[in-house]
Amino acid sequence: MEEVLEALARTDPEAARIVEFYRGSDTSTLVREADRVCRGVHGDGVWIRGLVEFDNHCQRSCSYCGIRKDNANVRRFRLEPAQVVETVREGWNAGLKSFVLQGGEDPAYSVAMFREILDGIFSFAPAAAVVLSVGIRSKRDYKALREAGASRYLLRFETSDPVLHRLLRGGIPLSRRLRALADLREAGFEVGSGYMVGLPGETEQIRIANALLCRSLGLDMVGIGPFIPHPDTPLGNSFQEPIELAVRATALVRLLLPQANIPATTAAGSLHKAGREKLMAAGANVLMPNLTPGSVRKDYLLYPGKICLDESGLDCLRCLDVRTGLVNKVVRTGRGDSPSWTARQEGAKTSKSPLENPS
Ligand code: SAH
Repeated sequence: MEEVLEALARTDPEAARIVEFYRGSDTSTLVREADRVCRGVHGDGVWIRGLVEFDNHCQRSCSYCGIRKDNANVRRFRLEPAQVVETVREGWNAGLKSFVLQGGEDPAYSVAMFREILDGIFSFAPAAAVVLSVGIRSKRDYKALREAGASRYLLRFETSDPVLHRLLRGGIPLSRRLRALADLREAGFEVGSGYMVGLPGETEQIRIANALLCRSLGLDMVGIGPFIPHPDTPLGNSFQEPIELAVRATALVRLLLPQANIPATTAAGSLHKAGREKLMAAGANVLMPNLTPGSVRKDYLLYPGKICLDESGLDCLRCLDVRTGLVNKVVRTGRGDSPSWTARQEGAKTSKSPLENPS
């Protein structure tokens, strides 16, 4: 570790200082500093994104995930585009402006189906931000989805350790995930990634490397959640690490990426009843209430003990108001583009590429 930090001190001295502070600080000191940095950039606001889990078919068998292909106990569903649009409409009518559509890696959900969803949403909500989270797809698909109007994409790298990554993801290498992230950036998406904390085989060194990878990728959004063993997966008997690991990881990423949007994840709220509040106090500035229709909500179980399975999306909104108040923050329902993304857009507008302007 010391050698890694020495090398880092030469290439990115600020990151090296932050990691040293992280290693030398108890959790309350770390959290206090991350909260200070978060409020300095993002104020007291917490952006709200409506989450629609629309498809639990998956061609992959990641060993951590409850909806892995090889789990025969899952009742599979695939919402029709029109159902997805109606679900988003309810959220829009309740005042939400940004929506995350998440599903398994399912080639049967075609680009044409996504186009139908996006056209449907923009017909009544032209200003909505639509975020996709549907795994690795071809560069061509990513371009088509961006052109169809999706503006953000979430694809966690899950762990930055190449050996652990390959083991957990059924042989798919980390480099493939990283290439997909580069493809997403090239397609013009606001890009989010992130990782789970507390995976079996994960060391403190890997946790630090995870956070540093988020910084070197220059992410606009970073999702961090505790790993929660699912009984129907090969990792079902793994040790459950305490929430504190996710709290420390969130604080470290906030310090390394002050401008990123960081959600207080549902997994954190599922592991600990105050998990999301703890992450918000440690620098998270986004919450994702679940809008998934009640008829299928229980079938999208990535991990056991998932919260809010019986509430309606609107119940969730009221509850989030209270939760953000507990940590002295306030709910905001705008699009909530990340400041890093907005700055890049402004930069692109003012500094025209010579290729666009041949003189
Ligand atoms: N198919 C998409 C979406 C994956 S689900 C994709 O491949 O990107 C969203 C996230 O849930 C995953 O990226 C993973 O980090 C998380 N997740 C999966 N299983 C989990 C578990 N057992 N505990 C905690 N988080 C889990």
